[in-house]
Amino acid sequence: VHVRVIDRCRFPRDKLCGDTLNPGAVAMLDTLGVAGALHTRALPVLGMIVTGPRNARVAGRYGAGIQGAALTRRDLDVALLYAAMAAGAQFDDGLMVTGPLMHGTRVTGVRVRSTAGAENIRAPLVVAADGRHSRLAFGLGLSRCPKAPRRWAFGAYYAGVADVTAFGEMHIRPDGYIGIAPVPGGLANVCVVRDCSACRGQELHGDVIARAIGRDHLLRHRFAMAERVGSVRVLGPMAVESRGAGVAGLLLAGDAAGFIDPMTGDGLRFAIRGGELAAAAALRELHTGTPQHDSLDAVRRREFAAKWRMNRTLRALVGVPWGVRTAAALTTLWSRPVQALIPLAGDVAVARRLHQR
Ligand SMILES: Cc1cc2nc3c(=O)[nH]c(=O)nc-3n(C[C@H](O)[C@H](O)[C@H](O)COP(=O)(O)OP(=O)(O)OC[C@H]3O[C@@H](n4cnc5c(N)ncnc54)[C@H](O)[C@@H]3O)c2cc1C
Repeated sequence: VHVRVIDRCRFPRDKLCGDTLNPGAVAMLDTLGVAGALHTRALPVLGMIVTGPRNARVAGRYGAGIQGAALTRRDLDVALLYAAMAAGAQFDDGLMVTGPLMHGTRVTGVRVRSTAGAENIRAPLVVAADGRHSRLAFGLGLSRCPKAPRRWAFGAYYAGVADVTAFGEMHIRPDGYIGIAPVPGGLANVCVVRDCSACRGQELHGDVIARAIGRDHLLRHRFAMAERVGSVRVLGPMAVESRGAGVAGLLLAGDAAGFIDPMTGDGLRFAIRGGELAAAAALRELHTGTPQHDSLDAVRRREFAAKWRMNRTLRALVGVPWGVRTAAALTTLWSRPVQALIPLAGDVAVARRLHQR
């Protein structure tokens, strides 16, 4: 199949993300033959540290021989692009998709804009993998931003953070959470997620990360000598709901097919597996001429529903202050069950299954 990949950005480019691939995502990239290129640039992630109020703290390892990886999206996304091009895909950057081309109810390509002007690109099948605010999914009424949750994410790199280890960190607080991950070059990726339904523009543009760390008695001493490297990137509202996985001639993959919240650190695993499922559906649609968006939707639900349910429950629990206090109590009282959640969030079962093949 002739594949043409287009992106509005020029690469390499930065992307606001926690910069960790969970073990399931790493194993999937291994089976695709991509992980080798990453390992030279990535740091191993051996497990997660989760803290809550009242000094609750749990550290859980993914298990023997199982690792996640930390590397910047700048590096990861370029490695993925090179792999796609090495497999035969044509890549054009700097092309912004402005909407679908339609023939009746069927998508027959995309309209794009670039510095050279506007252009129509026709294709027998389009895969929209254009992220949370997918022009195509929103334009076709497949996605929308729900009224709640209204969480925003703020991310930056810091040098000189003390006690950064080979564990990812999730610090859950009554007003949101703070993720910290080691990244190559002696830096730490710091992401703060806040419910900003009541935030005004000024608050969104202030240094939310510095304020969150400065107020946090568990974290502020670790940042005493730390310095922010580069600017704070802001993104939100994060939640996007999708109904369906496409229309005739169009299939959704990755965040374009829906995104709620990055707390469980598995967005890339869903995106990579969602890409595989969309690719298989695309081949079927090209081969048979029969639209495959409904069957893609069904197979996505079958594969992802259990994990989506777990993620939703965790997010609901930490979405309100009483929930966070309960979660903190659970963490203090029952550290073993909380430890069991860490491999679940890390898709360790997926990693083990793929390693055994
Ligand atoms: C704060 C935060 C932290 C996160 N941390 C983690 C983590 O540690 N681990 C994890 O697994 N997941 C994490 N996630 C989730 C993860 O970032 C996403 O699930 C993942 O990036 C989805 O990949 P994607 O390819 O679908 O979308 P994206 O990575 O958003 O890629 C979409 C691409 O489409 C391009 N594009 C967009 N619009 C257009 C257009 N109109 N025309 C042309 N091109 C376009 C963009 O330039 C971009 O390159 C985090 C998310 C957030 C918000």
